[in-house]
Amino acid sequence: MVTLANILAARATIAGIAEKTPLLQSDFLSKAAGQPFYLKLETMQPIGAFKLRGAVNALAHLPEGTRGVTCCSTGNHGRGVAYAARRAGMQALICMSALVPDTKRQAIQAIGGTLRIVGQSQDDALRESQRLAQEEGLAEISPFDNPHVIAGQGTIGLEILEAVPDAALLLVPLSGGGLAAGVALAAKAINPAIRVVGISMDRGAAMHASLQAGHPVEVTEHVSLADSLGGGIGLSNQLSFPLCRKWLDDVVLVTEEEILHAMQALYFEDGLVAEGASVVGSAALLSGKLSAPKGPIATILTGRNVDMAVFTRIVGGQDVVLGDLKLRGRAYAA
Ligand SMILES: *Cc1c(COP(=O)(O)O)cnc(C)c1O
Repeated sequence: MVTLANILAARATIAGIAEKTPLLQSDFLSKAAGQPFYLKLETMQPIGAFKLRGAVNALAHLPEGTRGVTCCSTGNHGRGVAYAARRAGMQALICMSALVPDTKRQAIQAIGGTLRIVGQSQDDALRESQRLAQEEGLAEISPFDNPHVIAGQGTIGLEILEAVPDAALLLVPLSGGGLAAGVALAAKAINPAIRVVGISMDRGAAMHASLQAGHPVEVTEHVSLADSLGGGIGLSNQLSFPLCRKWLDDVVLVTEEEILHAMQALYFEDGLVAEGASVVGSAALLSGKLSAPKGPIATILTGRNVDMAVFTRIVGGQDVVLGDLKLRGRAYAA
């Protein structure tokens, strides 16, 4: 299992590699919420996403003599693992499905990671990375179902609670649940009364479907603006599913239009570039899907690794077409 002590230890392990990121109070979102609303800027990590925390902590726990690592990824975990592996002088073999956007692929190659593009889903990528681990003697690092990854992501919860000790509600972007599990564990160990709510897109939200079913289930993967939230949780999930089941108070789903609007709002109101997956907490607030919170709220801007050609269309109010996803452009209006 994972404990507060593991998360505190992870903080010391990752210090100096993963950043302690700023926490920004958004005036615009605070007005919308009627409460102070904070954004934890994981967009400022060296790889542009929080995944560096878990990756660095996981690599630090590999047995002496490990020659290389492999993982499946929707992009940001692979980038974190490749970055941490390069620092540790190890090879990194990153398995991804054809759904992963080009920008995320190129970023991994640019820091020396080797790519393996397989299949049409994160589950296909997972099978390939497990095969490579077996056949080539590499250590497999799950993006979310690994205790050291969960402890690494949990350090975000420590930092938020230290900055805002009276936080009443945390909104956590939710995919495989490593982030939500670690953050909820840390936050509730410090303040048991805090509410932690996971937020996913409404198309292909595997953890939400699994929590409803009471066991891990597979879902069809869809193209989404929140591409980093795609993919299953693994049918043999050991850790992130039970932890999310135990610690999450609720899960809220947002639409692609709501994600698009939140990306525009963060850009025009707060001058922030954030990828779709990272704005789902703000989207849930702006779309009125949260029950009125009684105290400060924080969400995590988990990453900024968005295709800039797509991003400029979104903020420019132009139509956006991604695979079978077609979104009508509209100029931003608060
Ligand atoms: C991975 C990721 C998430 C979700 O994290 P999980 O631990 O899989 O739930 C959210 N946002 C971004 C930008 C990510 O890369």
